[in-house]
Amino acid sequence: MFNSLFYRRLYEWYETQHRVLPWRETDDAYAIWLSEIILQQTRVAQGMEYYMRFIARWPNIETLAAADEAEVLREWQGLGYYSRARNLHKAAQLVVANGWTPFPTRFEDIRSLPGIGDYTAGAIASFAYNAPYPAMDGNVYRVVARLLDIDEAFDTTAGKKLFHQHIETILDRENARLFNSAIMEFGALQCTPVLGDNCQQCPLQEFCLGYAHHTAELLPIRKPRPKVRDRWFTYHIYLCGDKTLLQRREAKDIWYHLYEFPCTEEQTEDKYPFTHVLSHQKLHARFLVHRVQKMPELPGTFVIHWDELNDYALSRLTLRALDTLRTALPN
Ligand code: SF4
Repeated sequence: MFNSLFYRRLYEWYETQHRVLPWRETDDAYAIWLSEIILQQTRVAQGMEYYMRFIARWPNIETLAAADEAEVLREWQGLGYYSRARNLHKAAQLVVANGWTPFPTRFEDIRSLPGIGDYTAGAIASFAYNAPYPAMDGNVYRVVARLLDIDEAFDTTAGKKLFHQHIETILDRENARLFNSAIMEFGALQCTPVLGDNCQQCPLQEFCLGYAHHTAELLPIRKPRPKVRDRWFTYHIYLCGDKTLLQRREAKDIWYHLYEFPCTEEQTEDKYPFTHVLSHQKLHARFLVHRVQKMPELPGTFVIHWDELNDYALSRLTLRALDTLRTALPN
């Protein structure tokens, strides 16, 4: 089914349509890895800014490994999913400790690093070394589901296995770099979640079973989503002269090792002014400003000058609140 005409069509489309992205113009495995970690759960436009900053500040794995975790988190601030930043840093240190610099070349070694799953390992191995591994991101799952009219959920263990078997048969093993780049970009720009009239101008239309069977728009299938959990946070911004109180989140929970104002959590149905949606949690938050003569002594907190706040990695929710409340706060 996937003959040479299929690949020619896909590659011709890619040559003329693809976006120019700095991490697709390089075969530096470190730069590719950095971009892939940043782009997990992040839009390209936002990721680009962070990628440029990271690569300028830590141009290779040795410099990243030598950085403090706090510095890396600080640079990551605003991107969310902070475990990515912690894993990035941990992985850099492991690569250096194992003598794998400038970056591991074996798929198994790449895959063994923290924060790297099958997709990221495949992307690095194929983009950097043209090694014959697929890189199945959400876009590729969608394209494969539609081309082959697969009505199994792709995000279950069994579904992933099935899709991997299929992509192995489609993968152009001699040209894995080009194939993976092309099919990912094809999913991002042509075979998009909402199709509109994309199928009418699609160079792969004659190969597409989803199009032939009128099922394309319904694919891919996902497993039912887990219920979102609501949480209510009250943050206390204590102001004593030009000082305030901060704490570091130590529990294995969201925002591990980020900083925040002293916080209490309670179960309530009250309406709070800020909401922040994470993948499985909806946070409701309020920020209370207390002007005090003497700082309260709260366990786990420490005093900083207000203008040092920028030195600490804060959650996006807190940054948003600080912006909204700025008239009530010191400059
Ligand atoms: S015909 Fe439509 S569904 Fe099929 S690959 Fe092209 S854009 Fe995707």
